[in-house]
Amino acid sequence: MEQFIEIKAANPDSLLFFRMGDFYEMFFEDAEVASRALGITLTKRGKHYGRDIPMCGVPLHTADDYLQRLIALGHRVAVCEQVEDPAEARKRGAKSVVRRDVVRLVTPGTITEDNLLDARRSNFLSALARAKGGEGGGDRFALAWIDMSTGAFRLAEFDAAALAASIARVEPRELLVPDSLLDEADFRLRFREIGAATGAAIVPVPRAFFDGATAGDRLASFFGVASLDAFGGFTRLETTAAAAVVAYVDKTQLGRRPPLDPPQREASGAAMAIDAATRANLELVRTLGGERRGSLLATIDRTVTGAGARLLAERLASPLTDPEAIRRRLDAVELFLRDSSLREEVAGRLARAPDMARALSRLALGRGGPRDLAAVGAGLAAAVGVFGRLVEVEMPGDEVAAAMAALGTAPHDLGGRLAEALADDLPLLKRDGGFVRAGFRADLDETRALRDESRQVIASLQATYAGLAEVKGLKIRHNNVLGYYVEVGPQHAPAMLSAPLNATFIHRQTMAGAVRFSTVELGALEGKIASAGERATAIELAVFDDLTAAVIAAGAGIKRAAEALAALDVASGLAALADARRWTRPKVDDSGAFRITAGRHPVVEEMLAEDGQSFVANDADLGAAPGAAAASTTGEGGRIWLVTGPNMAGKSTFLRQNALIAVLAQMGAFVPAAAAHIGVVDRLFSRVGAADDLARGRSTFMVEMIETAAILNQAGPRALVILDEIGRGTATFDGLSIAWATVEHLHAVNRSRALFATHYHELTALSERLERVVNATVKVKEWKGDVVFLHEIVPGAADRSYGIQVAKLAGLPAAVVERAKAVLTELEKSGGHAPASLIDDLPLFTAARRRAAAPAPDAPPPPVLALLDGLRPDDMSPREALEALYRLKAER
Ligand code: ADP
Repeated sequence: MEQFIEIKAANPDSLLFFRMGDFYEMFFEDAEVASRALGITLTKRGKHYGRDIPMCGVPLHTADDYLQRLIALGHRVAVCEQVEDPAEARKRGAKSVVRRDVVRLVTPGTITEDNLLDARRSNFLSALARAKGGEGGGDRFALAWIDMSTGAFRLAEFDAAALAASIARVEPRELLVPDSLLDEADFRLRFREIGAATGAAIVPVPRAFFDGATAGDRLASFFGVASLDAFGGFTRLETTAAAAVVAYVDKTQLGRRPPLDPPQREASGAAMAIDAATRANLELVRTLGGERRGSLLATIDRTVTGAGARLLAERLASPLTDPEAIRRRLDAVELFLRDSSLREEVAGRLARAPDMARALSRLALGRGGPRDLAAVGAGLAAAVGVFGRLVEVEMPGDEVAAAMAALGTAPHDLGGRLAEALADDLPLLKRDGGFVRAGFRADLDETRALRDESRQVIASLQATYAGLAEVKGLKIRHNNVLGYYVEVGPQHAPAMLSAPLNATFIHRQTMAGAVRFSTVELGALEGKIASAGERATAIELAVFDDLTAAVIAAGAGIKRAAEALAALDVASGLAALADARRWTRPKVDDSGAFRITAGRHPVVEEMLAEDGQSFVANDADLGAAPGAAAASTTGEGGRIWLVTGPNMAGKSTFLRQNALIAVLAQMGAFVPAAAAHIGVVDRLFSRVGAADDLARGRSTFMVEMIETAAILNQAGPRALVILDEIGRGTATFDGLSIAWATVEHLHAVNRSRALFATHYHELTALSERLERVVNATVKVKEWKGDVVFLHEIVPGAADRSYGIQVAKLAGLPAAVVERAKAVLTELEKSGGHAPASLIDDLPLFTAARRRAAAPAPDAPPPPVLALLDGLRPDDMSPREALEALYRLKAER
């Protein structure tokens, strides 16, 4: 217990997995927390100052599952192992305790085990450094992020406005921030929000991690280089963030070093800026409900490897802004699209390629096993196969050519050596032995033969002994206590225990159903087998270490090959998608264009297709006047489409599909449209009115306004802005006024390309005054008093909302629908004010009024009337209408 308390004191912020034989045990508060989190039994063990010590434990062989659950719940675990043989401890004295030590801190951002990781998702650990803004400048930040399981290492610097967006893009599992930053109330709140939005565990670390003065040296020493210049220039802030990550790796891995790539700096502006709200809104990598299914990523993912899936997700999270780089990716997709046999062969080979990068990382961290070696071997074999097929391609294009260069120079000999060395069936752990292939090492074969021979001798001894003792059922067995022993039934015991047999058989144990003996011969053979076994194990471990060292030495080449395979997987997957769903290659350039012909919403289309329905394709053209040069250089602005139409007509779908097409095009994918011409979008904004954000304790309207403010302050002529029903969270006239002023500002100041869906038909008047505002509406048909949605976007403005028809579709009772129609007619006649005639003639409520005592002349109107007055059927969604109805009913 003393040992536990001491080790726990050194690791106060982690649950301590304390190794006791075949279990990891937890004590005190750790036990209480873990038993609750894992649903395992809480017991007690011993006493501490007279009180019971709470305890729970998990068996060693299932410990990974429990670890995974604890990590997923945001806990950190310190794994404390026995670091010496119990025999060693006994040598020190009878009462000595086995020495134990923490060998590893398991945190969400530092895991490398396959069963703790999601194969199709990167696992980033990141650190954020801040330089306080001085006069005339705001704070600056640098983010460093690594994936310890693959070695990726990136850096970026940005200003305070881009803070949340930058972190949202990376989606780290764990974010290290200087504790001094969290001392500031404002940042505490922001990080809580960032944590909630990205799922990142926010970890305060001491300021020493972020010491700018020593950062350069610390980083250089991690990579074993004299100066960081070899990696390209980093700012001091970037170096500080990178050094903090590295320090944390050292702290959690206790000196073991994962094979990190040299840090790669991301130039600011290289990626389309997409803030957290927009990402969530467009459901890029997960739906608003938090699921992967139904997201854009899930819809476009046809990769066949984990590494490919991770790369695809990363590309989707940061679309490019350089048309040339985008073209290179699109060329690769096009190559695989044109040549479907190439695509199928490459995908077939990739499907058999294991996750080399993660296996390599585990080997480097000393956590690898025989299967990781085999994974590298098989991955290299796949690399050879894919390379062999690619050399047949005549014009591979830059991206595929680069992949081929990496595959061509991969350490193929090593792959061959691994295949030769490793057996077909591999144990999980190297200590289980048996993983080196027969014939690979003569000395190993010899010792194995010796061991097997002895086993055979033992088998033959059974017959000899049976004859000698004249006991047919005599058996030779083995257990850990006695080693090899002879066993007979109890009725034979007297003969065996007396001369002459007792000269050969030495009595060891008498049990209810059997008597056990050892013999000198068995003892000798046992010794031989054991020492041969030990020798065999030692040889196997030496082979393992050799191969591991060779793999680590070739690490850079292996990683390059793994990345090349991932890039090919992404390209061929996107080609398969484009082929299956008839997507086309977008034209992306530096112009101010945004012209989509027959565009579709990739996710909605797929959902409709599942139900056998077809999606209605729509055009959009938000570019500056045709033929105009870059919007940013000529001062030309993009167009704003004001989209009106009833609820459920398809406005949101249309808005989003255009944003998604821009994201897809710039990540280097084909797009769901007959044609698309997009002048690079540098920032994407998407706001949806009335999105609830109760978790953050802000009113819906407040959130909407904060987000709208961000757009109006940040969007420029290269931005694409999607605004869906802004201003809906407040009274009609307020909302209309805000929407009005927003459109004017977007037009005159931001000059962005924008899509603005609104139910304020009044806004459409703006198109007469503002040259780049275009009215568009969703076509609907009225048929026998019902509305039929055609989902077709056409020029012009909606003339009415069809709110009542939509409410009818939603199943509002017929009486209410009829009455609403009558009220609407009256309201329309009177220009929006509730005319007296209407109030006097409210059939639904006359009964209630009659019941109420005759009100005094100046008494307030009954609450139902006040409620009713406040309702604007035109502005209500079916659901709001239904809720209003319930409210009315409750007031009665
Ligand atoms: P709004 O924003 O106008 O209320 P939505 O965009 O939410 O409408 O669309 C409502 C539903 O109509 C969608 O869930 C989808 O099923 C269907 N829909 C929308 N656009 C299309 C389209 N272009 N083709 C086919 N169905 C569509």
